[in-house]
Amino acid sequence: MIDVKELTAKINELAEGMRPTTVMEVCGTHTHAIMKYGIRQLLPRNIRLVSGPGCPVCVTSQADIARALTVASRKNVIFMCFGDMMRVPCGKKSLLSLRDSGADVRIADSPMAALRVARENPSRDVIWYGVGFETTAPATAAAADAALQTGVRNFSILSAHKTMPAALRALLGKGSRVDALLCPGHVATIIGSDAFRFVADELKKPAVIAGFGAQEILAALAIITAMIKKGEVRCVNAYPTAVTVSGNEAAMKLLLRVFEPCDAQWRGLGVIPESGLALKGEYKALDAAARFDLFENIQVPDDDRGCICAAVLRGDAEPENCPNFGVACTPATPLGPCMVSGEGACAAAYAYSGSRV
Ligand code: SF4
Repeated sequence: MIDVKELTAKINELAEGMRPTTVMEVCGTHTHAIMKYGIRQLLPRNIRLVSGPGCPVCVTSQADIARALTVASRKNVIFMCFGDMMRVPCGKKSLLSLRDSGADVRIADSPMAALRVARENPSRDVIWYGVGFETTAPATAAAADAALQTGVRNFSILSAHKTMPAALRALLGKGSRVDALLCPGHVATIIGSDAFRFVADELKKPAVIAGFGAQEILAALAIITAMIKKGEVRCVNAYPTAVTVSGNEAAMKLLLRVFEPCDAQWRGLGVIPESGLALKGEYKALDAAARFDLFENIQVPDDDRGCICAAVLRGDAEPENCPNFGVACTPATPLGPCMVSGEGACAAAYAYSGSRV
């Protein structure tokens, strides 16, 4: 593979005289790698890299978090989630603060671990908080299937799962200032490279699926730059070692057996039609929102602390544009989800710049 120096020189050479171009990455791991390797600083001034809604914790709406807090504080409930959801603030509360005040909120490394807890505690209601894109949703689907097959009646799922293509359609459609897309490598391993062809075919923007090393990201950016320069629009799989045309068919089959698309609210992007995953058919019996009546009368606090996560997630602002960045808001004192999650753009910017620069 060509080394970083050569790739940087190639991009700079290709970009000479090119119109200003904005490239969006929509994967939290890409965001971290880009910050870690200083890739923005290697690019010419006319190529701007912006982060999009690639962090699943960050895009989870206030309403979805309020629902989680409501049900987690009920008696007899064991509420289980990935660790990075614990500190996401919602008004003055979080799952962590609920746990500190006595609620039974537990961290699990997988939905199957939550199902095990349900089996061990048959007199308690165990709820798994399903958050994430196509990368984590199949594991939730597997737990739902196992619960149904084995008759674990005290297990349910609060689904805030989302799908990436629908969000990209909304974000990169008419009026978007994004010129090209660095497609998320992890999601692509599940849904396949073909699932991103619409970015080129319908939205008329170059799209390149990239791996996560400095060379892999720069190689993908070199392909994008060459396409922009030549006026070409294609979807290219530059991560063929992990991504196939059709992705992980077994995982997708399971996901589609258990879930169906539903409208979903995204932080920063509003409600996007068919961009969420709701339990379907016989699996609806495991829906925590229906079982615990979480549709009505949920108090959703305003986000009034000057957090601009919504603009960061749309690619309209950089973390450093936020007056709280590195001052009132740090990983130790996060005011918004983009600083809480390890995949968040603010956490990445803080980790690699150290503070406001
Ligand atoms: S720095 Fe903190 S307050 Fe500002 S946008 Fe990021 S998470 Fe929100």
